[in-house]
Order: sequence, then structure tokens, then C-alpha cells
Amino acid sequence: MSGLLTVEQAQALVLARAHALPAERVSLSAAAGRITASATAAAVDLPPFDSSAMDGYAVRAADLPGELRVVDHAAAGHPAAEAVDPGEAIEISTGGVVPAGADAVLPVEYVVKYENKISTEAELRPGANVRPRGGDVGAGDPVVDRGIRLGAAQLGALAAAGTAEVECARRPRVAILATGSELVAPGRPLEPGQIYESNTVMLAASLAAVGAEIELLPAVADDEAAHRAALDRGLAADVLVTSGGVSVGPHDLVRQIEAALGVEDVFWRVAMRPGKPVSFGVRGRTLVFGLPGNPVSSLVGAELFVKPALRALQGLLEPRPRFQAGTLGSVVRRSDARDDFVRARSRLHAGGTLVEPLSGQQSHMIARAAAADALIHVPRGEGEIEAGATVQWLPLGEA
Ligand code: AMP
Ligand code: MG
Repeated sequence: MSGLLTVEQAQALVLARAHALPAERVSLSAAAGRITASATAAAVDLPPFDSSAMDGYAVRAADLPGELRVVDHAAAGHPAAEAVDPGEAIEISTGGVVPAGADAVLPVEYVVKYENKISTEAELRPGANVRPRGGDVGAGDPVVDRGIRLGAAQLGALAAAGTAEVECARRPRVAILATGSELVAPGRPLEPGQIYESNTVMLAASLAAVGAEIELLPAVADDEAAHRAALDRGLAADVLVTSGGVSVGPHDLVRQIEAALGVEDVFWRVAMRPGKPVSFGVRGRTLVFGLPGNPVSSLVGAELFVKPALRALQGLLEPRPRFQAGTLGSVVRRSDARDDFVRARSRLHAGGTLVEPLSGQQSHMIARAAAADALIHVPRGEGEIEAGATVQWLPLGEA
């Protein structure tokens, strides 16, 4: 397989053609998982006012220790009407506005209360238990950058800073087409020579996890006219993903008919296993992926090529798969001609992650792959990688 593109080269060719889609405004409540197209600044100071971090009494630090007269109270959402003058305190709850004149909050635990007076032996520094206005972020300062996936923390931050809508790249429309005369939808009996079509439901789940809007096309037989009609329709999407029909057999029609429909070939075949016969092309702005029909090849091809493209189409700053370091659970053999992506099970172990290769690594063995939550990258090379070595692995199904 020498002379073939490496995975990194192929990914670079894909990403060079995956330009961010136009942006749209999305309400915060619908924005989970979306990717920001512009930076968002805080609309207000956060906190918007000097705010109490404790239940207690707003005081002048210089008055402590001593006895103070309680002149008012302030609750969250209900500021006090009075100010704190020397010798005075205002009862305050967490999140209440620290009243004028006060510079610290005395926690209720340090106070003895009688009638409308408190006394304390505590001392406080000015600013104690006060969350200053703008201490988290100032109005106009950035809260979330562009190219960031909106998760829980980002959404919380945007809401707190007064944002109701964000600009996000439109979600990519992805058409998925299975090819093969042997394919039958699950739920129907199998005739001789038939198998259940498993790739479209798998790819739909895989790609929806990165924000794709999926259009599932009905599977087509290995027949030119059926291919032509279905591929023509699929090419109207932002991304067309086919499965099957990209090998060298006489029934492998996908690339040939795509070429006739104006798809410009960018690459075919990558030095990897599973998934070597993967193809990639473009027609206008449409990205066209041909994943091999073997289900595990399709699964891995989606992780390594299609998902990075979908992230880039949405403007994510780092669209490549996020491999991470882990400890190999058992020995693996390397190939000098290609990179292997080994299905594995991860578990927490001694403060890190142990990734255990599964038995059954052939590319048709999707049932074995069902036990996997990880792909171990076994780079091309000589010999073996021993158990206990540090390897790079990718969580399967990442956003
Ligand atoms: P192909 O890439 O078309 O040569 O297919 C390679 C292998 O994957 C063959 O054994 C096909 O029967 C199988 N295959 C192709 N497409 C699918 C599919 N959508 N679901 C399950 N198996 C498939
Ligand atoms: Mg086929």
C-alpha cells in the first residue's frame, strides 16, 4: 500500500475543502452543540452589581469587631432602601445588592443577634464576602470566542452575560446513501445472498452527533440508473456520504457515476485499515465521501474524514479527531504499510485510561465493534507495540 495517501494527508485534503457555511442566529435554548460563528461579548457587567457571597450582614469593615444596629434588609432581587452608616448593618442574603456605605459582608455564623442589634468578635477586610461588579466579566468583554462548540458552560456563561441569541454556522445537510444489491432493511426476512443494511442508521447516528441534518436516501441496487438518480439527488446536499461500491469490483459504480455527474476526484484509497478504499471528491461546494461498504470501514471512515469535515463546515477551530494518550492493554502488531485503527474498550485505570483491543478486528465484524468505545491508532512501523505502552486513542462517537 506504499504510495497511498496517509490518513493525515487525506484529512488535510478534506479540510482544505471544508469551508464554513453561512451563519444564522440561533436562540440560546436551541444552541446546545452548535458552533459559534462570531465572538459574543457580555451585554452587562457580571455580576451586574456588588453582590453578597454569603447570608449575613452588610457592614463597614472598619466597624468590626463590635456591636451594630440593623437598619434594613436586602434579599436577592430586593435591594435595601437604606445605606449603611457608621455603626450600622443591613441584613443581606446571598446574591443581594451590597448597600451603599457597606464594604464587606459579615457571615451570619459570626454574629450574635438580639432584637435589632448584632454583635461580633470577627474582623473583616474591606471586600470580604463581596462579589465585585464585573468581577467575572466586564460589559463588552468576550465571553465565548468564535469557532467554539456550545456546551453547558458556554451556554450558562452566555445567558448570565445577557445573551439571548448567538450566531452559529448553519448545520450541514448530509445525504446518506447505501449501495448494494444484497441489502435489505432490518425487519424483513432475508432471501438467499442478502444481508441487512446497517450502514445508513450507523452513519446517521455518527454524523448527527456532530450537528449534521441527515437526509437518508433509499438504498440502491448495483445498477447504473438507480445510482445516477440517487447520487444526483444526494449531490444537492452540503455533503453526500455513500457506503459501498468504491472498491475495484465490476459492480462498484459509485465513483464512475459521480464523475459523470461532475464530481471532481480528490483522492481514492488511503493507507489505513479498516477503510482503505475510501474516496473523496467535490462538486461545487458539495463534499462527496465514498465510504467502503464493510460496516467497520464505514464507521472508521466517518470518524476520521466525514466528522472532521462537518466540524469544519460549522467553523470549529479544531476539527480534527481528538486523539488522546492511553495505556495499551495488550500487544498489537504494526503494519509497515498502513496505519491501523483498532477497535477497543477503554476503562479508567491507575489515574489514566487503559485501552484494551477487542477480538475480531476484521472490517465486516460490526457486532464485535459494538463492544468498542475507542479506536486505537497503531501507526505504521515495524514489529509490535507492547502492552503497557502509551498509545493514542480516539473516543468513538465524539461530537
Ligand atoms: P462494497 O464496499 O460495496 O464492496 O461492500 C463491501 C462489503 O460490505 C460487502 O460484504 C457488502 O455486502 C457489505 N456492505 C455494503 N454496504 C453495506 C451496508 N449498507 N450495510 C451492511 N453491509 C454492507
Ligand atoms: Mg457493494
